[in-house]
Amino acid sequence: MKTSIQAPPKLYSDERLRELADGSWIKPFRQQYPLATTLPAEADNVHLRGAIDMHVHADPCMLATRSQDFTDVAIGAAHAGLRAVVRKDHFQSTVGEAYAVQRHIDDLVTRGALPRRIEVYGGIPVGSLDIVPMQRALRFSAFKMIWLNSVGGERLVDGGRVCPEAERIIALAAEHRRGLNLGAPNHSAQQYQGVGDYEGLAPVVEKIKKLGALAVLDHPLSSLTIDEIAKLVGDGVYAGLFCHPSLPSVAKGAVADPLRTLELLRRIGAEQCIIASDVGMVLEPTQLEAMRLMVRLLLVLGSTAAQIDVMLKHNPARLLGLEASQPAEDLRSTTLAEVAR
Ligand SMILES: [Zn+2]
Repeated sequence: MKTSIQAPPKLYSDERLRELADGSWIKPFRQQYPLATTLPAEADNVHLRGAIDMHVHADPCMLATRSQDFTDVAIGAAHAGLRAVVRKDHFQSTVGEAYAVQRHIDDLVTRGALPRRIEVYGGIPVGSLDIVPMQRALRFSAFKMIWLNSVGGERLVDGGRVCPEAERIIALAAEHRRGLNLGAPNHSAQQYQGVGDYEGLAPVVEKIKKLGALAVLDHPLSSLTIDEIAKLVGDGVYAGLFCHPSLPSVAKGAVADPLRTLELLRRIGAEQCIIASDVGMVLEPTQLEAMRLMVRLLLVLGSTAAQIDVMLKHNPARLLGLEASQPAEDLRSTTLAEVAR
């Protein structure tokens, strides 16, 4: 009997694949951005020293397996000189874990097994809009972030208005200086039932600004237009420049146009952006490698050192309620001048 081997279904048509694999952009890209082939590999080192990664994924993760656990991420980041890492899980609090990893880091430093300390933080995802876990966690200094619109979470808006439960959580973040990470409604498609991403985010962002909380939009380039992002940022709301979708990833998007990242940066300025890794799935680079790639990409695209440090050090410190690494005034005047150039 003859057995036939079935070809696996294709994600893309042959024509679309040819289009995606088309290399004709490479030459003009390298001509326009010569650092793509000449940037020294160690150029990212100075930026990683003192950097904060406010959106780390690690194992054991309740959404997908990750290539490293949080202890390994923290140790690697400490060796590279990062100031702080904050772990996100879509379904569980990472506050207790952050406390334990911090204890381990401090022990390694005391014993001389790690050259420098790193601050280790966690956060709580908003699934059922229940504020109680957040109220109870306020006495823990490792609790730094609240993840809104995490995967499968309850919707934050109803009929174009922010739900009272969500409003109370935003008020808690404002009062107690915890950062908000605002995912796109498509993370919870079932609950939002056809509400568009911008439509679902705009009332929440308005409420965040009104109540004086600080927030970062979770990789908005994957769900919003640049015009929409520009309308949402400002007054303490930042755009997350995360590795997805700025860098290609087999796990999330095999093709990425780096010039879209540049367009967003030019449009809203480094003052309104926060860089973070948001990676770690087994088909992605590790947290540290992803951070290095992101910094190198921004350097290749022409970002200045001051702009990168605003996005990597100053803005995330403000979001997390940490002491700023440099006086805000200096950073603002430097980068505004550079952005206007
Ligand atoms: Zn994430």
